[in-house]
Amino acid sequence: MPNDISDLIFTIIEARRDELVELARELIRFPTINPPGEAYGPCAEFVGRRLQARGFGVDYVRAHGTPGDNDRYPRINMVARREGARPRPCVHFNGHIDVVETGGGWTVEPFAGVVSDGKLFGRGACDMKGGLAAAIIAVEALLDCGADLPGVLEISATVDEESGGYGGVHYLAQRGWFSPPRVDHVIIPEPLNVDRVCIGHRGVWWAEIETHGRIAHGSMPFLGDCAVRHMNAVIDRFERDLYPKLSQRNTAMPVVPAGARHPTLNINSLHGGQVEQTSGYPAPCVPDSCRMVIDRRLLIEESLTGVKAEVTEILDELARTRAGFSYSIRDIFEVNPSMADRNGPVARLTAAAIRRVTGRDPEFICSPGTYDQKHIDRIGKLKECIAYGPGLLDLAHKPDEYVVIDDMVTSAKVMALAAWALLHDTA
Ligand SMILES: [Zn+2]
Repeated sequence: MPNDISDLIFTIIEARRDELVELARELIRFPTINPPGEAYGPCAEFVGRRLQARGFGVDYVRAHGTPGDNDRYPRINMVARREGARPRPCVHFNGHIDVVETGGGWTVEPFAGVVSDGKLFGRGACDMKGGLAAAIIAVEALLDCGADLPGVLEISATVDEESGGYGGVHYLAQRGWFSPPRVDHVIIPEPLNVDRVCIGHRGVWWAEIETHGRIAHGSMPFLGDCAVRHMNAVIDRFERDLYPKLSQRNTAMPVVPAGARHPTLNINSLHGGQVEQTSGYPAPCVPDSCRMVIDRRLLIEESLTGVKAEVTEILDELARTRAGFSYSIRDIFEVNPSMADRNGPVARLTAAAIRRVTGRDPEFICSPGTYDQKHIDRIGKLKECIAYGPGLLDLAHKPDEYVVIDDMVTSAKVMALAAWALLHDTA
């Protein structure tokens, strides 16, 4: 892009540093805690009113009937669109406005938007109201730089990302809001640091395995069949066969941290026998049921079918070889891995913008966990999607969450340059 345009954009954004901080503070002051989905409407309308005043057409989309949606906690999403000289390309910035609960351990008020020592503190400061504020300032700077913008700019403020995105991006994607020809490139300002382009994420399979037993008096366990011992046999096979196999498997996905470049399996919970008691004495019974929830993260090289088969093969073999063993398995939740082409326009031009703004070589990464990209890829059928934004993922969901103000400014510059380049990209 011409140097004079980028210099002008930098000047505009630097002059709006205080405005950027104030905007992020205002967003933090909406306590959009999910669950239950507090203050979604007022927060979405706040962003919508601001963009409407800048010539955007604004739609509010309530995700009726999605988990948690009711008249007390309506799932309200905002999509703002500013037409350009041509109907395409369209560059879309998608920010989720929901935040997780505050939890304990805070030394500042979590919804006050405290500024101290060059940092902005608050629940959602990095995940991801700081990023959304930076995207809004980036787009406004583009409008104000006077350069002609051949395509379309969109900004959305969506809900429920922290609980899977069903009332947010999932709902919108099912209705065409994230598909070509309406949208061509998506940038999600998740907190992945100012010099990294996140091109995708691993997949997930959550399932509950239950082993069955037979109840009997605990003084004569030989008269029953202990479901917990059967589950122990499952875990033993996981330890001896499955975990070593998973640690041998590597991915071409640039996942950070590097430990997540293998498939992972977390045993999320394990319950067998009597319900835990805090007082009184247990009754002597042989457990007739043991349930284990597993959280298996998969690589782009793996398939959900293959991943499930790997577990059921172990269970089926135990059913053949271990006396009394029987099991059932229930899928809870699944997401395919997603990865954009790092040489595609949105990844390539965002990387170039990082180089121009920071003078550093950007890093391409993938996330160990998922975010809304999955819905844009699988449902919207749009691969041209990345996550890029200020803040450190390590601080997300923690007490005293913060975003560094300089990073918000830097990322706003990168987002503005990337959008400008994408609107003018003819390659
Ligand atoms: Zn987030």
